[in-house]
Amino acid sequence: MSKKNWIVCGLGLLIGGAVLLSACATGAHAQPQAGAKKRCVVVWSEGTAPKRVYPKDINGAVAESLAPLKDWEVVTASITDPEQGLPDALLNRADVLIWWGHKRHDLVKDELVAKIVKRVKEDGMGFISLHSSHFAKPNKALMGTACSWGAYKGDSTTLDVTVKDPSHPIAKGIKDFTINHSERYSEPYAVPDPKSVVFEGVHTLKAGGKDPSRIGLCWQVGKGKFFYFQAGHETNPVFMDKNVQQIMRNAVEWAAPVQ
Ligand code: ZN
Repeated sequence: MSKKNWIVCGLGLLIGGAVLLSACATGAHAQPQAGAKKRCVVVWSEGTAPKRVYPKDINGAVAESLAPLKDWEVVTASITDPEQGLPDALLNRADVLIWWGHKRHDLVKDELVAKIVKRVKEDGMGFISLHSSHFAKPNKALMGTACSWGAYKGDSTTLDVTVKDPSHPIAKGIKDFTINHSERYSEPYAVPDPKSVVFEGVHTLKAGGKDPSRIGLCWQVGKGKFFYFQAGHETNPVFMDKNVQQIMRNAVEWAAPVQ
């Protein structure tokens, strides 16, 4: 249901018109989105990003980039929230879960990981894993491999991102771009063969030289779609970049179960 319809529904409630209310419920206000249920994306992070870069942590920054999505409810969740931010009632209505973790992977409860895996594989919830979350428990459980990169080095300056699969929905509106990025992950990345490599990239080293690697990869895991995005180091304001923000929006819409 569109925002406009919610307002009309609200007015119906206020003036106590049962007829108006039922008209709303049956989609009588013929708006393009009439009757559409809001979908839900949960953005989870662990609260370890530096405040000077991410005053609202990474979940807050990513959530802000998703605000323009129409007919989506955007919820932030943190490991410090009750039930590690994902009580059953929220997890069970999430269409997409975005995950950024780094230092607290081991604190995530195995019971929660099992629930996330079940939601993805059996119910089709989308999962989007960001940067250091390649080692997050849900990431590893869904991939079924070590999920390690060949090397991790904080000696780079920029990352040139190249659109490798321009017809993919996650690449919509994205042209090749460059971001400041001070950490590089090197191939090989120990994951199953992806269904698509949407983005590739080249890290430029401070000392000179280049290091190419895959940046945006997609899989189908059971009924659910999975997207991993390598960029997103916590000392670089990557998630404030307009291209990355568009990629996040595209990824959410792509990862959502087909209605
Ligand atoms: Zn990092």
